[in-house]
Amino acid sequence: MEIRIEKTKNPKAKPDEENLAFGKIFTDHMFIMDYEEGKGWHDPRIVPFGPIEVLPSLSIFHYGQAVFEGMKAYKSPTGKIRLFRPEQNMKRLNRSNERVCIPPIDEEFCLTAVKTLVDLDRDWVPKAEGTALYIRPFIIATDLVLKLKPSSSYKFMIILSPVGAYYPQGINPVDIYVENQYVRAVPGGTGYAKTSANYAASMKAQAEAEEKGYVQVLWVNGEYVQEVGSMNVFFKIDGEVVTPELDGSILPGITRDSVIKLLQSWDVPVVERKLTIDEVFEAARSGRLEEAFGTGTAAVISPVGGLDWNGHFIKINDGKTGELSAKIYENITGIQTGEIEDPFGWIVEI
Ligand SMILES: *Cc1c(COP(=O)(O)O)cnc(C)c1O
Repeated sequence: MEIRIEKTKNPKAKPDEENLAFGKIFTDHMFIMDYEEGKGWHDPRIVPFGPIEVLPSLSIFHYGQAVFEGMKAYKSPTGKIRLFRPEQNMKRLNRSNERVCIPPIDEEFCLTAVKTLVDLDRDWVPKAEGTALYIRPFIIATDLVLKLKPSSSYKFMIILSPVGAYYPQGINPVDIYVENQYVRAVPGGTGYAKTSANYAASMKAQAEAEEKGYVQVLWVNGEYVQEVGSMNVFFKIDGEVVTPELDGSILPGITRDSVIKLLQSWDVPVVERKLTIDEVFEAARSGRLEEAFGTGTAAVISPVGGLDWNGHFIKINDGKTGELSAKIYENITGIQTGEIEDPFGWIVEI
């Protein structure tokens, strides 16, 4: 398939790189492709970023049949543009599609679409330290009918947003509320899919945790630790790094996988297994919980400084960023931006 390109006649002014928020400003162009039953994915095009006309009966408004991805493009010191394991995002998009009955995309073609769009808007990739171009591919159901069934038509779109440094004041641990009333996902549910409905389900707990003065929630299912906010979670206990195993209720993060591979390459013991919140608190009480951190594309590494569970508070590593957490952060961000050589073949240059 050939991507038709219609360039904007009114290029926008670029934002101030030192004051970028997250996901508020978008670049000059976007990618769109349509799906119809019998016809498949067709009419891939890049057009000026702008409104799309829809009717109120559009099925995505009613039943939430939508999936998305989140990835970043970084500018290297030599001005090259670098994507981090983008083929993994396309693979995961198809696993999410499968879970919510959206027809599969051609992963290779969609990666070409990402590269073509980023290349066209390459002047929008910021170069200030910690900044990046956030890439948001997503798919929505577009049938114009209220019948509850998988849609027979869809739109795949990609939009781009220059984003600021996640840690303008330097990497900083945060306090987390262990959520024991609401759940994000259960085995058999949609937790492993990056589908919009999961995020609607998580907002109330997040809002209540913020009211109590916490930055994020730690999700548990019954007694088992799952994720922290929209990040995967790791605990260093007695020199061993533990992360919850992928049981279908946990989003298989690409940062998570990269951290595991990095630790293995350093011969740091790392295991994926079931982990109870009791075990985490017991390890903290007996002085064996050395570090805890979340992982995700937005922050890369987010150290956990303390956990509140049922009114019991534990402080982790004195509320400071752990040595291993900092080392992982420096190495992954270094590989992403090109300051550190990539021994894993993770980087795709545009
Ligand atoms: C996207 C996401 C993550 C992190 O995945 P990355 O690929 O590392 O960005 C973790 N948990 C949830 C719920 C997510 O949506």
